[in-house]
Amino acid sequence: MTLQEELVSLLHKEIKDAADSELYEACLEIVRQRSEQIPTVQGTKKVYYISAEFLTGKQLGKNLINLGLFDEMDRILKDNGKSLESVEAIEKEPSLGNGGLGRLAACFLDSIATLNLPGDGIGLRYHYGLFKQQFIDHKQHEIPDEWLDGSNMVRKTDITFPVQLAGKTYHSRMYDMDVIGYKGNKNTLHLFDLDTIDESIVHDGIQFDKTNIEKNLTLFLYPDDSDRDGQLLRIYQQYFMVSSAAQLIIHKEKEAGHDLHRLDQYVAVQINDTHPSMVIPELIRLLMMEGIPMKRAADIVNNVCAYTNHTILAEALEKWPLDYLGEVVPHLLPIIEGLDYAAYCAFSGNPDLMIIDEQNRVHMAKMDMHYSRSINGVAALHTEILKNQELKPFYNIYPQRFNNKTNGITFRRFLMHSNPQLTNLIDMLIGEGWKTDASHLEELLRYYNDENVLEQLENIKYQNKVRLANFIKEKENIDLDPNSVFDVHVKRMHEYKRQQMNALWVIYKYMQIKNGALPPRPITVIFGGKAAPAYKMAKNVIHLILCLQELINNDPEANKYLKVVMIQNYNVDKAEKVIPACDISEQISLASKEASGTGNMKFMLNGAVTLGTADGANVEIRNLVGNDNIYVFGRSSDEVIGLYNTSSYHSSDFYYRSNSIHNCVDFITSEQLCAIGDPAMLNELRDNLINKDWFMTLLDLESYCAAKETALMDYENRAWWKRKMLVNIAKSGFFSSDRTIKEYNNDIWHLR
Ligand SMILES: *Cc1c(COP(=O)(O)O)cnc(C)c1O
Repeated sequence: MTLQEELVSLLHKEIKDAADSELYEACLEIVRQRSEQIPTVQGTKKVYYISAEFLTGKQLGKNLINLGLFDEMDRILKDNGKSLESVEAIEKEPSLGNGGLGRLAACFLDSIATLNLPGDGIGLRYHYGLFKQQFIDHKQHEIPDEWLDGSNMVRKTDITFPVQLAGKTYHSRMYDMDVIGYKGNKNTLHLFDLDTIDESIVHDGIQFDKTNIEKNLTLFLYPDDSDRDGQLLRIYQQYFMVSSAAQLIIHKEKEAGHDLHRLDQYVAVQINDTHPSMVIPELIRLLMMEGIPMKRAADIVNNVCAYTNHTILAEALEKWPLDYLGEVVPHLLPIIEGLDYAAYCAFSGNPDLMIIDEQNRVHMAKMDMHYSRSINGVAALHTEILKNQELKPFYNIYPQRFNNKTNGITFRRFLMHSNPQLTNLIDMLIGEGWKTDASHLEELLRYYNDENVLEQLENIKYQNKVRLANFIKEKENIDLDPNSVFDVHVKRMHEYKRQQMNALWVIYKYMQIKNGALPPRPITVIFGGKAAPAYKMAKNVIHLILCLQELINNDPEANKYLKVVMIQNYNVDKAEKVIPACDISEQISLASKEASGTGNMKFMLNGAVTLGTADGANVEIRNLVGNDNIYVFGRSSDEVIGLYNTSSYHSSDFYYRSNSIHNCVDFITSEQLCAIGDPAMLNELRDNLINKDWFMTLLDLESYCAAKETALMDYENRAWWKRKMLVNIAKSGFFSSDRTIKEYNNDIWHLR
């Protein structure tokens, strides 16, 4: 049967007579059937990638690409007056992640399967995932993301495991999603859930009774933990996830007849940030139940587990009160205390190295570092900061455990799927080898002086900007000029990522325009990102941006030269639409604070030029493309760390010293903005910038404005800019997650 015949037989009607929703169901069924036919990756050693988040993005398009069916399906639908793009629009994006960390996990699963390595993901099946973001009165509102409505790739299994929570037995049910590699075999993402979850307990946005574990356990990712019940719920979720994971692992190993004393010969466990840390004591507990003494069990687990650190922000390194753990997982307490006592004996009670601190809090990262064979950071600079600053006491005792694994992204999604025109151009120029070995992209440098190729690059960028302008017109009803410069700042909202600095630049540019200093070409500033529901300052920044959007876009004097758009509910689907249309990629975190970033890599791959600080993987991007093809500004991470260590940054100094900074900051609470927005929120934001500014916005503001001005001027030298685009694409091969996964496998997992 041809693909067309298959489609018709599933539809029971002609393609031209089918609705997009029917076509979606039929396409999904074809993917399921094909996936069933391809073999699961086989091997004697397997990695389990345990993560609280998997930000998978929509599955249909990516699976059709990896199965080699995308182009044919696209053509069949076109021939019948339909479009695959509209069919893909029916799918609801799985809401199983939050930001970069979760997206990394999804890219890794794609690469593991593509490289034909045995490796499964393990996570939770959140019913409403992270919230869905809506803007009302220029403010963020949170509502449940009902992604489970409608068909998807996640299927229920009849496999369950008993999990003890606060002395009661619950039954975790496994759901599976196939992870289809590019032209390869498949692995599985296992998502655990309770049958008893009750979505109807959610009211007023995302409020619910946090104590009703039976009904609420897997409703949301990262439920509010500002109170005791919220923290307990996080512990419940984490233990539920890792107990299910550990039982699955031990069950499979026993089934295979493997000797559990040699577990490290058959299993590697990658702990993605600290959320899955309790897998360590849980695996030890299960091995002890198999008759292995604790000391021996701890040694075995130590050789199985590896830990990835994703941040140096202190608030993100989880510390749970011992009595909370005692309440939720009393059966783990003797083990955790035993592990702490072992560290006490080995390191003469050095408080830096204890798992349990003097206030009886359990430091999850410290437990990870004592009981993992590998500790990795996610970009070169980040790993150096871990070794020399944040985790120095551990580096001193375990230097051989520390290693760097610079993050990566899957080009199948962030180029082949999101930017088909650029994909075709690259195929035409250098063939298709780059799809499985991204280092081939360097061959594009041959065209550095090829006017024809450079012009095609520019045309593709323009067409992607037109597409995005149409999308934004439809979704937000804002008219964008595709001939303007698209300056894009999309990522989670956080003060360290400094969206507020870009907002201050918008104010600066607006005031310039009002004073008659006009830019050579209109500028469109595109923001997008969710703020954690309890993070006031991040919500204030969203509010400022939305007020600026209202003011500037409706000012006939200014809107010819400057526009601001904040996209609602930024997710992977939106990312795929925005990134190919970007000219200037905003990566302006306070140096030392962004562990790696992966957004920066997606933009580079799509021919955007980075405007950024020397932070995270930006440093590696600069080393690859050279200073002519990136705009780097601001204080270095050493300078910033010095300022923190000596407490010598005072934002008020910068505010009072510079007129231009002063004016921009004061505009936040100007009559004009206060007439549009909520004066209390705007005042709180201005106040924070002047008197606190923990992430040093005002420190770098002037050098940021200067660097951005240079970038905007250079953009006018089109011949030059097109070459910058080409170099960025050509040098992006290093950031393929295939490269990252090969490194994990060679240095840590050793899968066979
Ligand atoms: C890549 C990605 C991120 C991470 O972006 P950063 O700029 O690295 O913070 C966050 N959210 C989505 C939807 C992404 O696709």
